[in-house]
This record gives sequence, C-alpha cells and structure tokens, in this order.
Amino acid sequence: MDDLFKNVVSHSKEYGYVFQSSEIYDGLSAVYDFGPYGVELKNNLRMYWWKSMVQLRPDIVGIDSAIFMHPTIWKASGHIDAFNDPLIDNKDSKKRYRADVLIEERIASYEQKIEKEVEKAAKRFGDSFDSALFVQTNPRVVEWADKKQALHQRFATALEQSDLDGLRNIILEEEIACPVSGTRNWTEVRQFNLMFGTKLGSVAEDSLDLYLRPETAQGIFVNFLNVQKTARMRIPFGIAQTGKAFRNEIVARQFIFRMREFEQMEMQYFVRPGSEMEWYEHWKEARMRWHRSLGLGDANYRFHDHEKLAHYANAACDIEFKFPFGFKELEGIHSRTDFDLSQHQKFSGKKLQFFDPELNENYVPYVVETSVGLDRLFLAVLSAAYREETLEDGSQRVLLKIPAPLAPVKAAVLPLIKKDGLPEKALEVFRELSVDWSVQYDDKDAVGRRYRRQDAIGTPFCITVDHQTLQDGTVTLRDRDTMEQIRLHQSELLDNLRERCHFSTWLKAI
Ligand code: ATP
Repeated sequence: MDDLFKNVVSHSKEYGYVFQSSEIYDGLSAVYDFGPYGVELKNNLRMYWWKSMVQLRPDIVGIDSAIFMHPTIWKASGHIDAFNDPLIDNKDSKKRYRADVLIEERIASYEQKIEKEVEKAAKRFGDSFDSALFVQTNPRVVEWADKKQALHQRFATALEQSDLDGLRNIILEEEIACPVSGTRNWTEVRQFNLMFGTKLGSVAEDSLDLYLRPETAQGIFVNFLNVQKTARMRIPFGIAQTGKAFRNEIVARQFIFRMREFEQMEMQYFVRPGSEMEWYEHWKEARMRWHRSLGLGDANYRFHDHEKLAHYANAACDIEFKFPFGFKELEGIHSRTDFDLSQHQKFSGKKLQFFDPELNENYVPYVVETSVGLDRLFLAVLSAAYREETLEDGSQRVLLKIPAPLAPVKAAVLPLIKKDGLPEKALEVFRELSVDWSVQYDDKDAVGRRYRRQDAIGTPFCITVDHQTLQDGTVTLRDRDTMEQIRLHQSELLDNLRERCHFSTWLKAI
C-alpha cells in the first residue's frame, strides 16, 4: 500500500496532475499546485458536484461568497474560541503530531491486525469459513477487539471532555512512539488554533485583523436571508458553494489529503426545527449514492460516526474512503442545529429567520450540512484509478483508469504517421471534437508510445487517423482499459463520445 501511494504521488507529478507549490524554492509545506491535467480533473469533479447538487435540485441554489469576511463572523461561529486541534511534540525528533490522530492510528492498527487474522484464516479454511464465528471465538482476535473497544471508549471520553491530560495519558500508556525518533519522550498536549490571520487596511493603527476562512459554510449562513429572499426559496431549501478554505494544519502529510489551502464543496440545507434528523438521514444516503456513482468501487466507502460532536452539531458522520493509507474522511455530514444562524443573529443584531406560511410562524431554521473536500475527492479518484499492468507480450504499462466523464482529456487524435496528409486530416477531426470536448492532438513518436502516454494521463479513447481514413472517412477508436479497437466513421465520433463521456448517465442514475 505504501508503494502504491508513493507511485501515485510521483505519477501525478510526472504526468502534470499535481506539483509542490513553489517547488523551485524548495517548496512550501502542504501547499500544492495543480497542473494541466490536474486542473481539468478538478474542474470535472466540481462540475459533477454542482450539476447534481444545484442544477438537478429545484430546492438548492448556489452562491460564491468572498474569502475575506468580517472578523466578528469567526467570533460568532465559535472558530476563534474552539477551532483547535490538540497537538503534541516529540522532544527528540522535534516533530509535531496531532494527539487525536496518533490515537486514531493506534485504534486502526488493532483493526488491521484483526482483518489480517481473518484473511489468513479464510485462506486456511476455504469455503467452510465462517468469519462472524471466527471473530467471536478466536482468542487472539477477541483480545485485540477488546483492546480496541476499551481504547476507543477512553479516547471518546477524553475528546468529549476536552481532556488534554487524558489524551496524553493514553499516548503514554499505549506506548505510542514517534515514527521518526522511535522514542516516547512527549511534551504536554496543547490546543492549537487552525485559523490563518491577516490584516486589512494600509495604516497600522486602523488595520483590521482578519482571518482566511477555514470553511466556506459561514459565507452561506451570513447570506441566508439575501438568498432566501432574492431566489424566493421556501424551507426546506439549500445553498451550495465551492471555494478555497485555509487551515494551519499541524500535521500536513499524506500529499493533498491534508493541505493548508484546499477547496471545499459545501451545501447547507435549511429545514424546519424538529425535522433535521430526517434530513440528516436523507443527505447521508444521497451523498453516499453520489460517491458510489463515480464508479470507484462500492466497497471503498463506509460511514463513520463522530466520536466528539463539534460545538455546533447534534449529529455528525463522515463518509470515509479507502485511500492507499487506509479508510479516511472524504466528506462530512453534519446536523448543525440552529447554532450558526442564531449566533449570527445575536452578534449582528439582525434577524435571520424564516416566516413559514404553513405554520404561520417565524423561526430560525435548522441546518444539515454536506461538506466534501475537492482535493480529497481528487486523491480518491487518482488512487483508485492508478494501475500497473503487464501485457500479454510481457511489456508493462501504467494507466489511470479514470472514469470517462471525469477524465481530463476525453480523446487523443493521432495521425498514424506524420505525412501523406494524415496530420491535416487528424487536425480536422481534432477541431471538430474540441468544440465539445477536451481532446488532444499528438503526432510525436511511434503510435504505440503515444497510446502509452495517453494511458498514463488517463485518456479513455484514442482516435487514429490512417490511410483508410482518407479513402472512406473511417478512423479507429481505441479503448484505454481493454485496448480493443473498433473502426467507425468520423461522423459517429461525437455521438460516441457523448454517450460515454457525458455526465448525464450518472446524473440520471442518482
Ligand atoms: P479532518 O478530521 O480530516 O481534519 P475535518 O473533520 O476537520 O477533517 P471538516 O471540517 O468536516 O473536516 O471539512 C469538510 C471536508 O473538507 C473534509 O471532509 C475534507 O474532505 C475537507 N478538508 C478538511 N480539511 C482539509 C485539509 N486540510 N486538506 C484537504 N481537505 C480538507
């Protein structure tokens, strides 16, 4: 798994998906730039999200709010006082860790031990293997399961009570060592605020302390009435937005999984008080369906209920994805109560209420939020798509099996050779297709090498123009995954691409 992850990281740099920010200056930690293919994949993911969350839903509208916001917003939302992570330092390596993450990793390691034992037994016993019975009765598995359960319970209690000493004690008693120094020489656990501060205004005395937004959600809350009135929305309804968010993450490893500048795609759904649990369940299911529609494998997703509810929530869970380094959060679904709107009402002195004509009363709506990280989604797609294959003739190919609707380049148009009028014909095909789709023209090197290059960037189709094309207008269409080629007329290409690359099939299915 480690190797797979390393390969995904180096492949995404080599093939123009993701670059380290400021690389020629030795890089900036946990900040990344997206290359020519990365930006296309990101745009496609964002577009699919937007189409399914906004275009397809009569009850949801979008906005694009500013990154800079009035500083009191962060006081009202609780971010100034409570947007903290517990950090701990190892005194020998001087490395900093999130105390909660160290413990979560230990819990996951018990899970992995159990999984391995079950796998081993399944191989040994074959068809007659009863995994449920095995898990209940195998002494080693039972012991690990008990340890995991006890640790989980202690951890949840310490988090719930913001008990920093409790977290430290768990780390000491579990004998968790620093992966760098290997020692257990830990500092105290401290709280660390994740917001980036900056200043607005040119004169020092008059300048205003601002924060870069750590989530896009607050831009939605403070615009609640603007949107409700101008778009004439009635409860229940939602407001969606995509945009950058910034967090001064303590541990920023694992490539684009945890960045200091990242992009969120959030939707706040405003509902009648008392109906929020129904909507919470609705959005859990709807968002899981959406993720599964990407075709990355249903078994790669699971729900995970939160150990500790944030200060604003009365229910919360994550949709986790099986990244190469294990199951981790991809999207959060939170029932945020009326906390945010009530707080903004209090701090701004402006009413943020809805007059419900059916009930004939005013109330502060409750909110169910869906919040997914675009960059994490990107990493999920890339890591599920990466393949190394040995072909029948013994040669190797690396390919990205990115589902066609998400692929950065839908098709490459390749003249078989660079003469006899084939490049001109191929350019004609390129021009015809490029009005609707992102396509590439490539006439460098032998055609086999060009196929490999397209496989590596994840292009689902290669269209080859050869001498027969000049005679009867037919081209070959090569499929990235099966490498099969069919011959079809040039005039059929657009329909063919539309059928396979358009989001409409997915949108109809969700
Ligand atoms: P984590 O527990 O991994 O720190 P979180 O619970 O703080 O995440 P939320 O506040 O629920 O995350 O944010 C919603 C989504 O935004 C997450 O599910 C994730 O996809 C994305 N996200 C949050 N922090 C980051 C980050 N530092 N880098 C990339 N994506 C992020």
